[in-house]
Amino acid sequence: MLMCLAEALLRVPDAETQDRLIRDKLAGRDWERHLGHSSSAFVNASTYALMLSGHVIGPQDTGRWDPEGIWRRLVVRLGEPVIRQAVAAAVRLLGRHFVLGRTIEEALRESRPLEREGYRFSYDMLGEAAVTRSDAKRYLERYRDAVRAIMKSSPRAPSLFERPGISVKLTALHPRFEDAKRHTALPELLPSLTRLAGEARAANLTLTVDAEESERLDLMLDVFEALGEEEPLQGWDGLGIAVQSYQKRALPLIAWLVDLAHRQNRMIPVRLVKGAYWDSEIKRGQEQGLADYPVFTRKVSTDASYLACARALLASPHAIYPQFATHNAHTLSAVEAFAGKNRRFEYQRLHGMGEALYELYGEAVRPSRVGAGTRIYAPVGSHEDLLAYLVRRLLENGANTSFVNRLANDEAPVDEMIADPVARLAAAEPKRNPRIAKPEAIFPGRRNSSGLALNDRNEASRLIAAMRWTLGSQEHVALPIIDGEARERPVTSVLDPSDRRRKIGETGEATDDDVADALG
Ligand code: FAD
Repeated sequence: MLMCLAEALLRVPDAETQDRLIRDKLAGRDWERHLGHSSSAFVNASTYALMLSGHVIGPQDTGRWDPEGIWRRLVVRLGEPVIRQAVAAAVRLLGRHFVLGRTIEEALRESRPLEREGYRFSYDMLGEAAVTRSDAKRYLERYRDAVRAIMKSSPRAPSLFERPGISVKLTALHPRFEDAKRHTALPELLPSLTRLAGEARAANLTLTVDAEESERLDLMLDVFEALGEEEPLQGWDGLGIAVQSYQKRALPLIAWLVDLAHRQNRMIPVRLVKGAYWDSEIKRGQEQGLADYPVFTRKVSTDASYLACARALLASPHAIYPQFATHNAHTLSAVEAFAGKNRRFEYQRLHGMGEALYELYGEAVRPSRVGAGTRIYAPVGSHEDLLAYLVRRLLENGANTSFVNRLANDEAPVDEMIADPVARLAAAEPKRNPRIAKPEAIFPGRRNSSGLALNDRNEASRLIAAMRWTLGSQEHVALPIIDGEARERPVTSVLDPSDRRRKIGETGEATDDDVADALG
């Protein structure tokens, strides 16, 4: 709620409306519902947000975390204008923590001292889920400007993987980046993306396609494959992709990428992450009534999957340039152990996170002629585009399963934090998380309605085939049926809502007498 408020406030132009919004959002809210669930990632996230916002207020030293009380006291004591300023300041503060610069020029200046220490950068021009074509065009232009600015500021040309790069979200570059729209999204996106990637190639910068929601994966892979075949990009080793180990498809996806690298006769840089959309993947699965979740439900499963994927990436040195993105000390150490003498890969961390871990590893992860090296993923942008990114960082920092969160908690047992996830998973029964019911079983006492995963091509094609068959096979007539007997009634035509010229059947309405008969 805090983040929703912050987002809304950023978009409301005048102070009076902002104050009314604050009153509406904060006064008389049912905060009680959230109490007693302080393990919930969101409450933890907002705790973290408040703690960071200059220690205006901290979680109580003892006793329960009481957001309602805090907000009520704040509104009463300070009034809406002060809260308005405070929320804006908190978001700015968080922004400064996680964003390298408001413009690419500022970010390039900020990155210089770290570059001198040996870090590399991948710049992410903030923005995602474009809603209109003009949004998408604006994001594209920002990326093109960024490529030009980076090229100017780092004219030296060591090897490609030592150069800076850019990271792009395909949802920022097309307003309807979804599978149902693939017949238009792919041809519309490809020319502009090819141009951007071609410019990155000319500047000797890498381009990584960020991983987003699982329901976009198939389309993302279509784009990625098609991009590698475009004439200006053929044989280019700089076109990379992020893979999320929390997805059940992660390992087969790596096999597919290895095969693609061979087919396209190039190296593919693969950034391995665990995945930043876990909460929304679970929620979406429940909303849609899917047969099961696309992601693992136990944290250790994701960790174990990460290790399996890491081994698979390291096992294909002629096809894959592995990029291990993590802030988890166990995961990083495991990768170090797997890699041994092989240093043809890199680590990645986010700007504003994992500094201590990477400092500690020092030489091992700092580039040298033989060393692996570390790249910092650096978001660039202003407050308006920050929020979605910020929410993911707050969830990551706030979730009590997360390594960085546990590290900050003096009471979390170290032995548990560094336990081998494979052994823990082997010992876990059942393998799926018993606290996260399948989507069909989330309601006590009744089954959830089952839905269709329209972004799953197998499922969608079965549905479309069934629709075609039904439409083509017979004339449908719907009549009132009482005691198993259809009653003849005057009928009206029913038209296909997607094509009003097409008649798909007829209905005869029940009369009052029919209703009475049915009830009687
Ligand atoms: P850990 O604390 O070990 O792992 C936390 C992760 O475990 C969660 O994020 C989630 O993925 C998983 N998890 C938590 N609870 C459960 C559960 N109950 N069941 C199953 N799994 C669970 N993310 C993207 O999605 N796309 C990207 O393109 C992307 N790019 C990134 C680039 C860089 C350089 C970095 C460092 C991160 C990037 N991320 C991206 C974010 C990344 O997914 C998170 O930072 C990462 O998940 C945190 O993992 P960890 O090993 O640092 O921490």
